[in-house]
Amino acid sequence: MKKITIAIDGYSSCGKSTMAKDLAREIGYVYVDSGAMYRAVTLYALEHGLISEEGVIDEPRLRDAMQDIEISFQFNPERGRPDTYLNNTRVEDRIRTLEVSNHVSPIAALGFVREEMVRQQQRMGREKGIIMDGRDIGTTVFPDAELKIFVTASAEVRAQRRYDELTAKGEACDFQEILHNVEERDYIDTHREISPLRQAEDAIVLDNSHLTIESQNQWLLDTYQRVIEG
Ligand code: C5P
Repeated sequence: MKKITIAIDGYSSCGKSTMAKDLAREIGYVYVDSGAMYRAVTLYALEHGLISEEGVIDEPRLRDAMQDIEISFQFNPERGRPDTYLNNTRVEDRIRTLEVSNHVSPIAALGFVREEMVRQQQRMGREKGIIMDGRDIGTTVFPDAELKIFVTASAEVRAQRRYDELTAKGEACDFQEILHNVEERDYIDTHREISPLRQAEDAIVLDNSHLTIESQNQWLLDTYQRVIEG
């Protein structure tokens, strides 16, 4: 069967990765979480003292460090999705903390960071048969993707999902702080100069505020099948 490229973009914590990884498993595609790559760069910057207490990024040093940052993914059968590796060390849990979430959007707004990430993402998608989720996949990384989805949900619903996720992992968290983080990331992601988050003209919009995971997955599978048969 012909292989295509599927781009899923949208706001923070709106369930993109859940639907993307489930579809990938269903149809035997590779799933790439591009947000995890920006999170891994952020973790590197935090661990190497490249972000000050006030949140100021040491851009010259981070620019130099980019050549030492290698991000890769390895499928984890237990989780049914790929784990993220930074320089061959598994960082899947460490990149999901609120500390990383609080610093990732300014890091992802830097041109030299985006250039390198987009280059690596395009290399991963060369053979098609890939589902990638993020903010600029349908607009910048794969503008020719055969299927583009733009996912949205209210900020409160998204913050609640993130809160439930962190609580389930045993991480102490505060709903208002998470809501603030979600709204702040939305603002930075949509207002940055380079590849801001926006809906590609040919994307199909999905508002999943009131959808269950099952009905969202079914919608995505049906949409994919229509494109493949079309
Ligand atoms: O998808 P996730 O919320 O994990 O992404 C973390 C952050 O990485 C986003 O808030 C955004 O700032 C950035 N990002 C991006 N471009 C992408 C994916 C994520 O700028 N393609």
